[in-house]
Formats: sequence, C-alpha cells, structure tokens
Amino acid sequence: MYYTNILVSVTEICTVGCRHCGFIGSTRERQPADEEIANWVTQACDFGIPAIIFTGGEPFQRFSLLKAGVRAAAQHPDKPKIGCFTSSFWGKDPETVDKFMSQLEGLTHFYLSTDVFHQERVPAQYVRNVIDGALAHGVRDISLCITIAKDEEEQQIRSMYDDYGDRLLIHVDRVISSPHIDPVAATGHPPLPEHYAKHCYLHTPIINPNGDLAACHVAKVGAHRPLDKDVYFLGNLKERSFPEIMAEADGDYSYQYLRAFGPQGVARLVNENDELRDRFGAKTYSSGCDMCSKVLLTRKGRQALRDHVADPFQQSLIDTVRESRFGEVREGAR
Ligand code: SF4
Repeated sequence: MYYTNILVSVTEICTVGCRHCGFIGSTRERQPADEEIANWVTQACDFGIPAIIFTGGEPFQRFSLLKAGVRAAAQHPDKPKIGCFTSSFWGKDPETVDKFMSQLEGLTHFYLSTDVFHQERVPAQYVRNVIDGALAHGVRDISLCITIAKDEEEQQIRSMYDDYGDRLLIHVDRVISSPHIDPVAATGHPPLPEHYAKHCYLHTPIINPNGDLAACHVAKVGAHRPLDKDVYFLGNLKERSFPEIMAEADGDYSYQYLRAFGPQGVARLVNENDELRDRFGAKTYSSGCDMCSKVLLTRKGRQALRDHVADPFQQSLIDTVRESRFGEVREGAR
C-alpha cells in the first residue's frame, strides 16, 4: 500500500490563533456529522490505509466528532493505527487531560504541535501535561511537531522537552511563508530542481470536513475557497465513494506527476515554462510544499501542469516511474 496514513480533518475551527496558521482569514464554517466522519474513516480503512490521523483546525474543539472518528477506526477489523494532532490547548491540568484521554480508547499516536508560534498561545506546561497523560494512558507514540522559521528555534523548543529522552519522536518542518510571519528569504530556495526532493507527503491524503478528498495537507486551503479545480483535489466523499475517487485518481496525470516527481518536478515545470519562470523564478520558498503550493494553486500553474502531462511522452515517463518506484501499473494500461 503506497498510502501510509490519511489525515481526517474533523473541523476547521480553532480558537488558539497562532500567527503562522494557514487558516487565518478563512470562514471555517464547514462541519461534518458524526456519522459522516465515521463513514469516511471506515471507507479509508476498507481501502487498506493503515493509519488514520485526525486533524483540524483543532480536533479537541469538536470532541464528539473526534470521538466518533476514533471509535470508527478502533472498531475496524484491520485495527489501523490512530493518531491525532493537537495544540494541547486543553491540557491545563492532569485531571482535565485524564478526562479527555479516557474517552479516546484506541489512540496510538499523538502529534503535538509545539513551536515558537504555538507557545505564544499554549504554555509548554499544557503540552507536558498532555504528554504525561498520554503516557499514563498507554499511547504508544508521541511526536513533537516543531515548525520553524529560523534554524535556532528547533533547539530552543527541543530543550524544553529534553527530560523525556527517547520517549518522544521529533518532527521538524519549515513554516509555509505567509504575510503574518517573518520573511523566509534567509532560509529559502529558488525554484530550481536541485533544491527539492522527488518525494513529499503524497502518501498521506486528506479528507476535509466537507468531504473533499485531496492529495495532501495543502488542501486545507479549502477553508478559504473551493478546491474542486485544483490539482490537489481528487473528489468529494458526499458524491462518490472512496474507491471510486481513487480509481479516477489512478488516471489523473497531474496527480500522478506529483507522485512520480514531487516538488522537484514542480521546480522543473517552472524552469521549462517561460510564463511560470517569469512569475515564480526570482522568488525563494521555505520548503517544497511552499514552492509547490505557491505555483500550483494559481490558474497558470495548474494549467501549465495540465498541458505538460497531456503529452503522451510525459505520460509514459510517469507510468514508468510509477512502475519502478511503486510497483504500480495504471488501470487503463493493464
Ligand atoms: S510538495 Fe506539493 S504535492 Fe507534495 S505534499 Fe507538498 S504541497 Fe503536496
């Protein structure tokens, strides 16, 4: 199975209000029903995805939805891993943490967002309370997710949790630039292929609260505007089933180009296209996702990719990479 996890966004609501948050300025009014979340989780498990990760917004701000999703995953016969992102805003004391944790039976992995941005809003002690409560409830894996704008921030945050030693996993990522945070020029790269990897987070698709199933986390932009024209959009689970959407994605060469070549392929596209090079070539980007989304969330970027992959030669290249890297043969080519 290529897909290692799926993100399930139970809500776009979060009142923590970090200044680096991609949801700033969005309406965030979309909300599924408990039964919909349970149904989408079950479909993803039936498809064979081995780990479900709940996200938001802040999943703990819609706790009944989170509980419904965790319950559906825990009851699935495949026994998937069950993870959850949180800011730990609810971790004000051990008793409160215990109350929440005792209702989330089956949770195996916490992803705790803690960085200079979150710490302006959520004290580190809250995060520590959640870590302690999760350990007491037997949560197997606990990851600190540290988003940095400057290199020195990583050590600053790590040092606050040093005493947990190897009980914690650490994941560090660069913040996606926005008007609300410092410019990333000091650490960013121009869109040249040598600065970017061939792989990214496409093995982790996402379900948004309105049922949109999309290629990766960048689809959270769906809180700002409809996603259905974007290359990251795969389909909507209120209209079609999970396997139907994935069968169509199998023949979607824009999506398959991203799977085959990752952000490195997007950088190559920028360099081979005069209009894209003029528009994006002189800028710098904090990460592959920053560059990829800045290019492909524009009409011109999206169209350039569609034109590129309409060429039968490019399609056969993509098919070849899929076969050699993932052992996949496209449905129509069998
Ligand atoms: S590089 Fe692009 S396709 Fe890959 S995870 Fe980031 S935004 Fe998604």
